[in-house]
Amino acid sequence: MRLCESCSARLGLESEASEGSGCEACMGLSDKFSSYLDMAVKAVSEYEFSTFWLGAFIRKKVIDADARLSENKQGIKKALEIYVGEGLEKRTGKTATPVDPDIIATVDTINERIELRVSSAFFSGRYVKKSRAMPQSKWLCRKCSGRGCKECGFTGRMYPSSVEERIAAPLIRMCEGAGSKLHALGREDIDVRMLGTGRPFAIEILSPKRRTVDLAEASKEIASSGDVEALGLAASGRQEALRVDTSKAMKRYEAVVSSEAQVEREKLEAISGLAPIELEQRTPNRVAHRRSDIVRVRAVDNIEFTNISDEGFRMSLLAEHGTYIKEFVSGDDGRTKPSLSQLLGIQCRVAELDVTDVEFV
Ligand SMILES: [Zn+2]
Ligand SMILES: [Zn+2]
Repeated sequence: MRLCESCSARLGLESEASEGSGCEACMGLSDKFSSYLDMAVKAVSEYEFSTFWLGAFIRKKVIDADARLSENKQGIKKALEIYVGEGLEKRTGKTATPVDPDIIATVDTINERIELRVSSAFFSGRYVKKSRAMPQSKWLCRKCSGRGCKECGFTGRMYPSSVEERIAAPLIRMCEGAGSKLHALGREDIDVRMLGTGRPFAIEILSPKRRTVDLAEASKEIASSGDVEALGLAASGRQEALRVDTSKAMKRYEAVVSSEAQVEREKLEAISGLAPIELEQRTPNRVAHRRSDIVRVRAVDNIEFTNISDEGFRMSLLAEHGTYIKEFVSGDDGRTKPSLSQLLGIQCRVAELDVTDVEFV
């Protein structure tokens, strides 16, 4: 049997000394450990990170040859991972952990390269949207799907910007990231403003080279757009993204409602007195093309009316997550029951809608 010095020590076997690829266990891989470590140190040097995990990808032929000799001993894969992993810890001062590491580095011994998987950086806060013509995320042109056509003025999109792009722009640049993904506690319609205390969100920056950035500067830049603000922007984590993605919320709204005839104050006051009002809402006509047609039961917990005039009134209400407010007002051709129009006996519609608070429940 011929083994290299390193395998001979690892496997605790006496053998005729062998150089390089002549080793019957590792076929010369052990000789490359230190150069793999150098490669790994160089690969991660471009990135800001505090934790990592190291793996190795080795030809099956080598694994099998080694396995015949390494039963109950440390195999060649583990040996490489420990050598490079511990070396990386020493040389970078970073911590190796398999639990949610910032970087997973894989020594690919077949292609002689280091493959990096960089975990996203997360920042969270609450956003304010002051525009009535802005979607939450980038919306590609329906006609050309982003390629650019006459319809969209060759922009490839339906709206010039989005909440996500406004928030992500400075963060992608500062983190030197590859892209973004917005997580938010629900969403408002494009023509609905998000005011007051804002909506909880977490922004995920993909493959970041930097994780520590000047958040005051980023907030300032976001606000300079004039239509979006990120309040309380702070470094965050994947858990926060998951929390906003999966939580339910109560929302407070302010609306300008127009009515076809003058509405009596007493009738409105009587409706306020009915709250909490349980609603049955069939999927609204306007979203029926992309959502399944089902009946949802929702509740309006509180509703108040002010500024009553010939043309309409202001309404402030508190409603459960997922309540369709425009349809609660209009009735949506009988698809929402009861509706404000039905209760008043006068057709009403939302002229302007703002969300003024979103709270986790
Ligand atoms: Zn060997
Ligand atoms: Zn287009």
